[in-house]
Amino acid sequence: MPISDTFGRPLKNLRISVTDRCNLRCQYCMPEEDYVWLPRKDILEFEEISAVVDVFADLGVDKVRLTGGEPLLRHDLPELVRLLAKKPALRDLAMTTNGVLLAEQAPALKAAGLHRVTVSLDTVRPDRFEKLTRRKNHAHVIEGLRAVPRAGFTDTKVDTVVMRGVNDDELADLIEFCRPLPAEVRFIEYMDVGGATQWSMKDVVSRAEMLLAIERRYGRIEPVVEETSAPADRYRLPDGTVFGIISSTTAPFCQQCDRSRLTADGMWYLCLYALKGTDLRGPLRRGASVDELKALITGRWRARDDRGAEERLARRERSPLVAKSALKKDPHLEMHTRGG
Ligand code: SAM
Ligand code: SF4
Ligand code: SF4
Repeated sequence: MPISDTFGRPLKNLRISVTDRCNLRCQYCMPEEDYVWLPRKDILEFEEISAVVDVFADLGVDKVRLTGGEPLLRHDLPELVRLLAKKPALRDLAMTTNGVLLAEQAPALKAAGLHRVTVSLDTVRPDRFEKLTRRKNHAHVIEGLRAVPRAGFTDTKVDTVVMRGVNDDELADLIEFCRPLPAEVRFIEYMDVGGATQWSMKDVVSRAEMLLAIERRYGRIEPVVEETSAPADRYRLPDGTVFGIISSTTAPFCQQCDRSRLTADGMWYLCLYALKGTDLRGPLRRGASVDELKALITGRWRARDDRGAEERLARRERSPLVAKSALKKDPHLEMHTRGG
């Protein structure tokens, strides 16, 4: 039985950031010129990550997602995948990547036992990609996406953050692009998380607006009925194509949230919006026993009352979550450190 928090939400889903470094600079995630990086000596070794995952798995975690920063920048990532894929308790082992290095790494990741891949892609237009990410890697991402089915992966997702006046005219283009890959596109509402220092409510395109735009183009959309804690609401077009919308800003799903996040240096966060986390690296490196780690994690999860996105929604005035000066003092508040 997984342990439950104050709202009865089980501890099931762990997102592990394997590095805070990234080879893109997406406007909504890393808009600034310079960043404070985590000290290299603090970054967990693969054996340490594996040991922490064992503790979480004993407490009920059965889904792990590798993320970052850009996870494929972590040297020898397939080795970590191999360690994690051996754990029978993990029924889902996935990765979210920007796709830049995926073409070269997809076969090794598949061979190592990774189950699924999600690729973040916000535009099918190379010029827009460059504006959005401040890098020229669009062709690499497209190559990476095409390499995913070739390597034998199925159930592939493409995550798109939709921003008003930036890429909100590309919903149909992205659906058309993903269909033959094949991949299921999920449109994500722009969120006011740490790192999104230029966020403004007027740039958020709501789920309702997205549905209207898609319906105008394709005709009647049917919701896909399913019971799941996954954050995407899924919809079906008249031709059967399925897409998702993650309405994290205008209709958050905190009530079902079973996920927590481990940063590359072993800080554990109970919510994407949480300002404070729990240090697991310290106890781990001091030689804490499995029972001590279990007690620490259990205590924190049982006391969890986070529902960050719902609380943000209830505010009248909304501005970016964290000021730039605070992000410099604590890089853990950055989305690219926390893992998205
Ligand atoms: N670098 C990898 C990537 O981009 O897929 C993994 C880490 S990234 C932080 C994880 C996800 O967070 C990406 O899909 C990204 O689009 C999303 N993300 C980052 N900032 C966001 C924001 N302000 N609002 C919504 N999603 C955001
Ligand atoms: Fe973009 Fe992901 Fe890098 Fe953030 S971590 S800048 S979302 S690629
Ligand atoms: Fe979960 Fe926090 Fe996101 Fe709500 S805001 S869904 S509690 S991580």
